[in-house]
Formats: sequence, structure tokens, C-alpha cells
Amino acid sequence: MIRIGQAGIPLSCKGRTNKDGIVYTHKNLDLNAIEIQFVRGLYVMPEEEADFIKDYAKKNDIEIHVHAPYYLNLAGDREEVEMSYEKILKSAEMANDIGAKDLVIHPGFYGENGERRTLNLIVKNTTKIAGLLKKQKIKTKLALETMGKQKVFGSIEEIVSVCTHVKDIVPAIDLGHIHARGNGCLKEREDFDALFEKLKPLHLRHYLIHITGVLYEKGNEYYHLPIKKGDMPLAPLIDLILDKKLNVTLISESPLLEHDAVYIKLQVEKAIMKRTGKEVAYYKDLSEVS
Ligand SMILES: [Zn+2]
Repeated sequence: MIRIGQAGIPLSCKGRTNKDGIVYTHKNLDLNAIEIQFVRGLYVMPEEEADFIKDYAKKNDIEIHVHAPYYLNLAGDREEVEMSYEKILKSAEMANDIGAKDLVIHPGFYGENGERRTLNLIVKNTTKIAGLLKKQKIKTKLALETMGKQKVFGSIEEIVSVCTHVKDIVPAIDLGHIHARGNGCLKEREDFDALFEKLKPLHLRHYLIHITGVLYEKGNEYYHLPIKKGDMPLAPLIDLILDKKLNVTLISESPLLEHDAVYIKLQVEKAIMKRTGKEVAYYKDLSEVS
């Protein structure tokens, strides 16, 4: 199954609440996923809105993910780790209340520590926070994001390593970040094959994937670009997904948000048509794809 959506409330949606955003995503865009952004500080969603979103998503088959506050450091000093726990826990409670599948979190910084010590700290601290979530019967899973800057923990290898060590945690595969960190490493089909090969030990049944164009230099992300302005092609990724019949959620993080989510949808449908030989395709129907 292929799910497509954008990170946040669509730009063209007049109402600016998450409730408006999910309705618009379904009704106006005909997309079936959204990543709600709890990214700045500790956002509190009114209970009524949370109930509405949960019911609406269930009734209309929309998959919800949530992005936790950007600034987290699970490899920092005690104070920073405690602050991160609090933000993650509060976000996870809200994410669970709206029926979110994953809560996307940023791992942290190397700081003075070497790569190995940072990895050990992040494994230790994510184990603890995953345990706290389990104790509270929170069903939303933590999704550890791949990061786009050299000084930040979160290469694909590091994220896979943490996910191997910590039960109940999955990767959030941010392709813009991976591409930038690898200084433009995702261009050909074989590049995407190699990336998914690295994820193999995790035996994932679902892949949460962030997509955007990205401006980068020397392995560091500068900022996001519209997909068409970036140099990471979509076609080889979509081919891989269709070939391997992967269960994916593709979230547009481009500055054009839903416009690029719809662009992804059209590219998926184009790829389906190429395979079926028909002149119409619908991204939700993969029954004739071979
Ligand atoms: Zn992120």
C-alpha cells in the first residue's frame, strides 16, 4: 500500500487548525496520510479536536503521524535528556490520543562525545523513553529520524543501529536528509536499492518516508527546496516501491507541502500506468501492478 500526505496543515487550506488540515487533506486533496507538527515547544491540542481527528482519520482511512518538537537531545547532559523526555512523553500522549501511528523524533548531537559514545547514549536513553511509553500503554511508536548534518547524530547506519538495539522503535527515513548528508547520494535506482538494503536487518513491515528537494554542500543540508528544484529523482524510488510492493507512507516536507504531495501522487500514478499500460491509474489501487 502507498500512502501519501504532507507534513502539516496544507498551505492552501484556509482553516489553520490540525482539524481543518486533516479534513482538507482527505476531501480536497484526496490524500490518505498527514504528519501533524507538534514541532515548536509543547503544543497542547484541545480534547475535542483530538477526538475529532481520531474519529475522522479512522472513518476515512487517513494515517496519522506526528512530529515531536525539533529540539531534542538524547545524547546531552542530564538536564537536556530530561527536557527531551518531557517533550517526547507529552507529544506521545497527544499523538496516542489522536491515533497516530508514529511519533517522529530527532535523536541528538555528538557534542564532545565521539560517535560510539553518542550511539551508546542514544540507545540507552531511547530504551528508557520507549519503556516509559509502554508503561503508559501508548500505542504510537517512536520513529527516529535520519538527520542531514554531519554534527548531528543520525546517519542511516546510526539510525538502523539504534533501531536494532531498541525494541519498539522504527526509523523515520528522511530522504532529503540522507541525500544531503551523503552529498547527493540518492540519484540512481542502485542508490535507493543500497539504502533499503541497509534497512533490511530491521524487517520493517511499513516505511515512513519524508521527501523533499534539498540544498546541500559538503554533506550538510542548508534548506528544503521544491522536489522539482532538488536533484533527488522520484522515479527510481517509486519503481523500487512498486517492484518490492513495499508498504510505505510518503510525506512531503517540501516548502510546497501539499502541492508536492500531489506531485508525488501523480508520479506514482504515472508509474502505475506505465506498468499496467492503461491510461488511468489511482494510487490507492495497486491490484493490477506487476
Ligand atoms: Zn524532523
